[in-house]
Parts: sequence; C-alpha cells; structure tokens
Amino acid sequence: MNNTPKTTAPVDEIPLAQPVLGAEEEELVLEVLRSGHLSLGPRIPAFEEDFAAFIGAPHASAVSSGTAGLHLALRAAGVTDGDEVITSPFSFVASANVMVYERATPVFADIDPVTLNVDPDAVAAAITDRTTALLPVHIFGYPADLPALERHGLPIVEDACEALGARHRDGPAVGARGHAAVFGFYANKQLTTGEGGMITLGDAATKQRIDCERNQGRAPDMGWLDHDRLGFNYRMTDLQAAIGIAQIHRLAGMLADRARVARWYREALAPLVAEAGLTLPCEDRGGDERGWFVFVVQLPRDQDRDAVIRALRALGVQSKPYLPAIHLMSFYRERFGMREGMFPVCEDVAARSIALPFFPAMTQSQVERVSVALAQVLPGA
Ligand SMILES: *Cc1c(COP(=O)(O)O)cnc(C)c1O
Repeated sequence: MNNTPKTTAPVDEIPLAQPVLGAEEEELVLEVLRSGHLSLGPRIPAFEEDFAAFIGAPHASAVSSGTAGLHLALRAAGVTDGDEVITSPFSFVASANVMVYERATPVFADIDPVTLNVDPDAVAAAITDRTTALLPVHIFGYPADLPALERHGLPIVEDACEALGARHRDGPAVGARGHAAVFGFYANKQLTTGEGGMITLGDAATKQRIDCERNQGRAPDMGWLDHDRLGFNYRMTDLQAAIGIAQIHRLAGMLADRARVARWYREALAPLVAEAGLTLPCEDRGGDERGWFVFVVQLPRDQDRDAVIRALRALGVQSKPYLPAIHLMSFYRERFGMREGMFPVCEDVAARSIALPFFPAMTQSQVERVSVALAQVLPGA
C-alpha cells in the first residue's frame, strides 16, 4: 500500500483493524477439514440459515466475496448492456465496478453531507428512461434512506457490505427489506470468513437464480455438468462457512463491542470537535441505527491530510485516507469522462476523511492514545 519501511513503525503500533477469532472458529474449521467435505457441503446452507435468521430475512445465499454478491444481485435485478444504475460515488470501488461487469453505466448521485449516503433528491434528479436499478450503499454502516428511494418503484440492490447490525428507522434491519442486500466478510468487516459474502433476499426465486449462477450456471436439480444458463464460480467454501457460523455466535457481542469503542471515541474526541474543527461520524437520527464498521473523522479543510497520517504513524497510530471518490479514480475518469467538480459534497468529504483504528477488542486506553496523538498533531487543539 505504501513504501514506508516497516522498521520505522513502533512495536506497539495500534492497527486499523483486527478480527476476533477464537476456539470455536478453530474447532469448526477442523471439523470440516477432518470431514474431507471442503466444498458444496452442509456448512453452506447452515451458515446461510443462521445469517438470514440474524438479519430477519427470508433467504440468504453465500458467495465468495461481497463483490461477487453485488455482481450476482445486479444480474438478478435484470441489469444489462446499456442500462443505467444510480449509485453513490462515496463507496468502495466494487459497488460501481459490478455495473461495468455487465456493460451497464454507473450514474453517480452526490451524497448527503451528514450521513454520507447517497442523497435521495440527487437520485431522483438522476433518473432517466434508461435507469433500470438503484444501488444504494450503507456507507460506514449508516442506513441509506431506503424509504425515500423505494418510492421510485425501481429494483434496488443494497450494498450492505459495511452495515451488518444496522437498522432502518421504519423497523427492519438493513438487509431485511426484501431487496437483494449484499454483505462482505473480508477480514476487517464486522463478521469475517477471510474472504466471503452473503446476499439476503426476500424471495425464493431470486435465491434459486443466484445459487445457480454462483455455481457455474448449474441448476440445483440438474445433474453434474448440465448448465442451463451462464454462470460463474462465486462459491464459498465449507471452511469459510464454518468460520462464519462461529462468527455468528459471537456477532451480537462483537457489534456491541464496536458500539462501545465508538462511544469512547466520541467522548475522547469531543474537545477536538470544539477546538480543532474535527467532524465525527454522525449520530443516529430519526430512528436509524448505525452498525459500527469504521470510525472515520473529517479533518478541517485547511489540514494537510497526508501530513496528519504521517505524524500519527510516527506516534504509533495507523490511519488511512478513507474513502477516495470513485468517480475521480483514473479508470472512471478515462472510461466515463468523470472529473473534479461533478459531485462536490463527495469530493469535499473524500479529501478530508481518515479512518482511525477501530476494532472490537480495542481498549479504552488505546482509544485515549489515538485521541491524544490526534490532539498533538492537529494545530489549534
Ligand atoms: C468491503 C466492501 C465491499 C466488498 O468487498 P469484498 O472484498 O469483495 O468482499 C463492497 N462494498 C463496500 C462498500 C465494502 O466496504
């Protein structure tokens, strides 16, 4: 990621993220290893059922990554050549890339400056007669305004990869509204299987299509090597599913731990909001509940972000710019003619945001150390 020699890092550097893994993960993985049934085995449906029950969704399909899940969910929504799909430019690049996989055009709509999710008014303004779907992202675990987006009556695919544990103001958990909602299980996510993903779904027919396409286009009731549609190898392994089952058992605890670390940060950083112009993640509003994934702060506009990141590192604190605006990435500039000034709110936030260390096992004294370091680094504090 960068070329800084590792030897310059203090030994007690506080990492950005750290998974929680224990004896149950080890045991369940060993069971799968000893069973010899490493793929297309019984752990996959078991993990799917546990996950769907946790979310409160009727169905779930396990896949090899969040990106694979977004791709299959978009195909299931009927998105194809030349279609337009409206999404947020303030996201991980995968949420827009999957549209390009299907030769559809990503149409970005600017974000709300408080929630950092796509602004429903900007979405409404971007709809054309070629718009075939909406792909809202619940960024940093804050629920996107689905009740407003649903009014358009277009198919919706939710990027919920950062939003495990979040809840909408009108009741359902993120992932339980009946649209395809995609979760990711990379090692920094609220639940990890190393790599992996899950699509929660409202209807059995969509699950059937997705289960077929993740497995080379093979229908569940067909013999080996009979393929009735184009498919992919987006399968999760039983080893990953075993880790996932153990992670579900500790999920409520891990989510509560993240929420507690966030509360410590809010208290510790409050003086920097008043004295140094720091912006913290927005508080829950109107009944929406964040599922804590990262703790991202925005520096004041006059700060040199790279210098802040370097200074924090010298004090033993990892941090990183998070997230860069998708439309300003060179692939999107060249392929879609994107440029500065198109989505000013996103560009402003993306230029000033840094992720601080944030993980369930983080201690209050580690939060204090990060906060003291940030106070030292930010002038005016
Ligand atoms: C993590 C993430 C993904 C998917 O990532 P994978 O590495 O493919 O599992 C997609 N969108 C967002 C917003 C993410 O944070």
